[in-house]
Amino acid sequence: MSMTELQPRAAVPAAPLRHDWTRAEVGALFDLPFPELVFRAQSVHRENFNPSEVQISTLLSIKTGGCPEDCAYCSQSAHYETGVRAEKLMSLDVVLGQARAAKAAGASRFCMGAAWRSPKDRDLDSVCAMVEGVKALGMETCVTLGMLSRPQAQRLKEAGLDYYNHNLDTSPEYYGQIITTRTYEDRLETLEHVREAGINVCCGGIVGIGETRADRIGMIATLASLPVHPESVPINMLMRVAGTPLADEPVIEPIEFVRTVAVARITMPRSVVRLSAGRESMSDEAQALCFLAGANSIFHGPKLLTTPNPTRDRDQALMDRLGLSPMV
Ligand code: SF4
Repeated sequence: MSMTELQPRAAVPAAPLRHDWTRAEVGALFDLPFPELVFRAQSVHRENFNPSEVQISTLLSIKTGGCPEDCAYCSQSAHYETGVRAEKLMSLDVVLGQARAAKAAGASRFCMGAAWRSPKDRDLDSVCAMVEGVKALGMETCVTLGMLSRPQAQRLKEAGLDYYNHNLDTSPEYYGQIITTRTYEDRLETLEHVREAGINVCCGGIVGIGETRADRIGMIATLASLPVHPESVPINMLMRVAGTPLADEPVIEPIEFVRTVAVARITMPRSVVRLSAGRESMSDEAQALCFLAGANSIFHGPKLLTTPNPTRDRDQALMDRLGLSPMV
């Protein structure tokens, strides 16, 4: 019998979504014995998704470096000497060429990131043309451009944008240690504008940035208490970039990372949980545990904006060994 002939979805109906997760409840999930936590996460995963499928996205930096924000983990912030040069917005032709290549390599969604505090209206015209062009190739589109006003979100929707990425990064309490140039409330406001415009939300965070488990609990509780769960929840592991304030941060323990993925899966059962930055330094075994804990999306391609990502060959070999196939 082939993998596709299997019927992996559980016969039991999926539990209703909850938006009232308390920190105590989220903390109790983190505290579960690891096998129990992973079993629960995999059970929830099967109620909602085919556990043999992984959604594949490709991320392209369409405007690199020179960002006025001071996110302490970021290679593109103009506040730090990281060796990343500020570049202009890419041309439409170059972006569409990259999107075609990503599609040929199996990506179903093309994500475009620009290192801006928020887009200028003139820049938004160019990004809207990119969204229209990528859509015309038959791919889903996602952009991350910083803070958005209500009318800007509406314009992106009219261009056909499917997803907008804007991460909460960490807990509300720890946020000020990581970014001082905009507030947690600013982020929530952008998410509201995106939601109101009818664009799917991609929103998650980063672990290993010096936060405590209480902060990881606070981040997941905040995400899981949004009025609508983000359709896509990226869980990133810090990529330590020389020149940034977090360059020497100790690496987060892999089992704690898997726990974070599992708790995201349980509390946001119908969201696609993406294993994002940090896969490059993760063992195949740690990635396999993340898939078992309910992660079902990855970024494909050798670069994540400016930092390294596993090669397509390594990803393909891992997916083959695990019997995973791309979600279409
Ligand atoms: S994470 Fe985004 S907003 Fe923050 S410094 Fe980097 S590019 Fe700018």
